[in-house]
Amino acid sequence: MSTLANLMPTAELQARDAAHHIHPFTANNALAQKGARVITNAEGVFLTDSDGERILDAMAGLWCVNIGYGRKELADVAARQMNELPYYNTFFQTTHIPAIDLAERLARLAPGNLNHVMFASGGSEANDTNMRLVRTYWKFLGKPSKQIVISRWNAYHGSTVAASALGGMAGMHAQGVPSLAGIHHIGQPNWWAEGGDMSPEDFGLMRARELETAIKELGAENVAAFIAEPVQGAGGVIVPPSTYWPEIQRICDENEILLIADEVICGFGRTGNWFGTNTYDIRPDVMTVAKGLSSGYQPIGASIVSDEVAEVIGRDEFNHGYTYAGHPVAAAVANENLRIMEDEDVVGHVQRVAAPHLAKRWAELGDHPMVGEVKLVGMMGSIALTPQKETRAKFASDVGTIGFMCRERCFANNLIMRHVGDRMIISPPLVIQPLEIDLLIARAKTALDETYEAATKQGLMVPAA
Ligand SMILES: *Cc1c(COP(=O)(O)O)cnc(C)c1O
Repeated sequence: MSTLANLMPTAELQARDAAHHIHPFTANNALAQKGARVITNAEGVFLTDSDGERILDAMAGLWCVNIGYGRKELADVAARQMNELPYYNTFFQTTHIPAIDLAERLARLAPGNLNHVMFASGGSEANDTNMRLVRTYWKFLGKPSKQIVISRWNAYHGSTVAASALGGMAGMHAQGVPSLAGIHHIGQPNWWAEGGDMSPEDFGLMRARELETAIKELGAENVAAFIAEPVQGAGGVIVPPSTYWPEIQRICDENEILLIADEVICGFGRTGNWFGTNTYDIRPDVMTVAKGLSSGYQPIGASIVSDEVAEVIGRDEFNHGYTYAGHPVAAAVANENLRIMEDEDVVGHVQRVAAPHLAKRWAELGDHPMVGEVKLVGMMGSIALTPQKETRAKFASDVGTIGFMCRERCFANNLIMRHVGDRMIISPPLVIQPLEIDLLIARAKTALDETYEAATKQGLMVPAA
């Protein structure tokens, strides 16, 4: 295959990268010392780097390349759309065919009466839209005091100022996130880390009822919406106890507040159904989608809203919109991606082949001496690293020390597995095949063994006091 890659020596590429490129969520000076890995091309579930190494991408990029790399259909559609209509907006009484096609397809795929789509260029932007949209909804309904959006600590809703304030990542709140008026956080349903002596079920109920308490304290007349990921992704693939979502749904129903399901990761098959909303039987009023929407081939996101929300928001001008919202090339690529998902029954492959095999093999990691909780929903999984599983102990070392070590060992073994603190997480392309899952597990075991050996040698297998 011919390649666009400039095959200069890796060290030279790394030096140029370090000289001019600031990486997101990275300590850049430290990275500059050791050099970034240069990814040159990809096919299926494998990345290739500038040294010719083949890396199994168990994160599907950033949770997004659901149909795998190298699907030529998407490149062809993008080229065709670029030639036909490379750009036009839908602001001022105009529309275009890719936006029409994609909105219609999303309305068909989305559950219940979620039939209306407002586009953005990614998940953060869509959540910014949602914040203004739910507040404007209540204003148009004559209840302008309903302005507060309730979210959760350790939620991830994006990196724009509003989305990071909406999220609950401590590390982000510590860096230039203003405490935006009208955002309130409650606890997360993370039983392993925070459940204490409670059963997971009791803990799930307790955390759900924090929403009810917050609404009482703030006054239902002041609360616009509750936002949550069906399964927290960037927070560490935190799978909620079975009691959590039914209780949240009850509380939302009884208190006249909108439910926003942030499906940016869970959407499009990740949890084993088209949406996390299906998996947990939730009835959201608004859904945020991005990532798997285009399998990451183009930047695009959207807010999908119910008939009621769309009717109300349509009563007057909603003064909001992004220049690239519903970009024709991105929309055409997303539409083709979803056509492939449907025609090739990718969700069926997850249900019948990939998820059952991964569930069986992923569970084996629980036998490893440093692995505690093992979680998996569909094709998103996590393991908690611990120095002592019986007590669900945290490490005495700084949070993330061992997780980072493990990620480095994965990287060295040509496996992309991410760490969140001392949890290891995966979210492989949905099209992954059983033999590739076996390779994933084999490399993960090697990385865990190497991490365990190094941590033991360095005296780090010590529980926090
Ligand atoms: C990635 C992510 C976002 C942000 O999406 P971007 O496209 O990076 O702006 C929002 N919500 C969730 C749940 C995400 O995982």
